[in-house]
Amino acid sequence: MSENKRLAIVTGGVGGIGTAICERLAKDGIQVVATYHPAEEDKLIDWSKARAEAGIEVGLAVCDVSSPEDSARMVAEVEKEFGPVDIIVNCAGITRDKTMKRMDAESWDAVINTNLNSAFYVTKPAWEGMLNRGFGRIINISSVNGQRGQFGQTNYSAAKAGIHGFTMALAHEGAAKGVTANTVSPGYIETAMTAAMRDDVRESIISGIPMGRMGNPEEIASAVAFLAADEQAYITGANLPVNGALFVH
Ligand code: NDP
Repeated sequence: MSENKRLAIVTGGVGGIGTAICERLAKDGIQVVATYHPAEEDKLIDWSKARAEAGIEVGLAVCDVSSPEDSARMVAEVEKEFGPVDIIVNCAGITRDKTMKRMDAESWDAVINTNLNSAFYVTKPAWEGMLNRGFGRIINISSVNGQRGQFGQTNYSAAKAGIHGFTMALAHEGAAKGVTANTVSPGYIETAMTAAMRDDVRESIISGIPMGRMGNPEEIASAVAFLAADEQAYITGANLPVNGALFVH
C-alpha cells in the first residue's frame, strides 16, 4: 500500500454498515483497518474472501471496543503496523432493547459501554497524534433514535445522544489543529438487524418513512466518505442525518 494514503480505523468494520464504510473508504484510496469483535472470529474468513474477490484490501484488527485497555492496545498495534491513524469511524454498536419497566443495569451498561464509552476509548489513544500532526477526522455513527428518542431504547437513545455531546466538544478541541469531529445519524438501514424484524413491524416502520423505504449501508458509507475527505476541513461539530426524512428538525 502507498505510504501517502490516509489511514482509517473503522470499528464494527465487519458489521452491516461497517462493511460498506470500509469498502467505500478503500475505494476512495484510503488505507482501511476494520476492527472486529472477538466473537466474530468465525465469520472473518468469509468476510475477507468476499472483500478480496471484490478487489478491496482491508486490514483487520481484533478489539473489544467496550474495554479501554483493549481499545488502547488495538490502536497502538494498528499504528505500529500501518502508521499514524488519520481517520476514526466509531461504528461498533449493539442494542439491548427493553422498556424502562424492564430495563436492568446490565443492559444499560452494556449499551453505554459499547455505543458511547467505546468512542472515547478508541479516539483517546489516537487523539494527541492527530493534534500534533495537524490532521484528523473523527466520524461517530449515531442514530435517529439518539436525536428523537425511541420507545424501549432508553439505553440506546442515551448512548447515541451522548455521542452528539462528545462529538461537539471534540470539535471545539480539534478545531485549531486540523482535526474535525462529526456524527452521521442513520435512520432505518437494511442490515441483518432490520432484516430480522417481523414483517408487520417492518411494514409499519417503512410506512412512517417519507421516502417509503429503508436506507442502505452504502448510503451511510457515502456520508462517512464525504466527512472523511481531506477537503472537508471546515465541517466540524456537525450532524449529518441520513434517514429519508424520518426525522427532520
Ligand atoms: P451490526 O450489528 O451489523 O454491526 C455492529 C458491529 O459492532 C458488529 O460487527 C458487532 O459485532 C460490533 N460490536 C458489537 N459490540 C462490540 C464490541 N464490544 N467490540 C467490538 N465490536 C463490537 O449493526 P449495524 O451495521 O446495523 O450498525 C452499525 C452502527 O450503526 C451501530 O452503531 C448502530 O447503532 C448504528 N445504526 C444502525 C442502524 C440500522 O438501521 N442498522 C440505524 C441507526 C444506527 P458482533 O456482531 O459480534 O456483536
